[in-house]
Amino acid sequence: MQKEKLYGKTINELIAVTKRLGMPGFAARQIADWLYKKEISSIEEMTNLSKKMRDLLSAEYEIGLSAPVKEAQSADGTKKYLYQVLSDKFIETAYIPDEDRATICVSSQAGCKMGCIFCMTGKQGFQGSLSSNEILNQFRSLPEFRSLTNMVYMGMGEPLDNVTEVLKSLEILTSEWGYAWSPTRITVSTVGLINGIKEFLEKSRCHLAVSLHSPFDEERRKLMPVQRTNTVREVLDIIRNFDFNSQRRISFEYILFKGLNDTPLHIKELAKILNGIKCRINLIRFHPIPGSEFQSPNLAATINFKEALNAKGILTTIRASRGVDIQAACGLLSTLELNKSVQR
Ligand code: SF4
Repeated sequence: MQKEKLYGKTINELIAVTKRLGMPGFAARQIADWLYKKEISSIEEMTNLSKKMRDLLSAEYEIGLSAPVKEAQSADGTKKYLYQVLSDKFIETAYIPDEDRATICVSSQAGCKMGCIFCMTGKQGFQGSLSSNEILNQFRSLPEFRSLTNMVYMGMGEPLDNVTEVLKSLEILTSEWGYAWSPTRITVSTVGLINGIKEFLEKSRCHLAVSLHSPFDEERRKLMPVQRTNTVREVLDIIRNFDFNSQRRISFEYILFKGLNDTPLHIKELAKILNGIKCRINLIRFHPIPGSEFQSPNLAATINFKEALNAKGILTTIRASRGVDIQAACGLLSTLELNKSVQR
């Protein structure tokens, strides 16, 4: 019989487990402590639970951690890990060390339904949503786990298309009974799913990043099919009307495609649609993917675009391209693995 995983359960879920097994009320907090603070890897190590309680738990549950199955390291220190999920699927996790920070980029789904045309994960199609266990296992089982300072949900999948499990993972990361991380160390990225954004803004205090990529409806629709049903104007209205505290940050991701979305008209329209929103734009240089005609503008053009936006009063930065030599664009490594398993 497949055992249920304890790791990735919220305190309320652990209370339900202990109640069902007839364990005392305080046992759930003790289990959470072992799982998220003391970092054990077996139920036997929960030594402040009686032997009887440990046996009861072990009969039906396991901790549920699993190490990455493959890794690739870039010359710049970025690492990409491949984890096996949903029994036979693969997802990617990136570890990005920087001067004073170390960021993990986690996946929330295997494949993706959103179909953004510039994305390798989008080309894989959708294979399934990850559980809170599978999301957090990428963090806990990362060899560099102890050095991590920041976390971004920008890997494979659309986090707000899996909002319940993503919110559970955020609760565990930020609760005092969990990892007790400040929500300001975590950013969740979305293509702009209206209902998911509303729920995420209400139920978490983490930063939000919206993938924008074009201020023009028609052009964005071609790049990101989500624009057909969830327009960026509706997303901006929600953001405008939400009462953000000073700690919480909104950013917009903007991949620059040469000759497509990098013109003066785009700068003008971006300044217009973002007017009145306290935000930042992160410009991202496009990582080429096989079979794609898109190209990245050169660095000088990227800097010009950034400076023009800054001159319009929009705080704009260029995200450093990391791990280009290890297929770091989201979805490339797992696509190779997927193709291999199809050929086997
Ligand atoms: S860019 Fe993100 S949302 Fe779009 S297809 Fe790729 S993984 Fe999905």
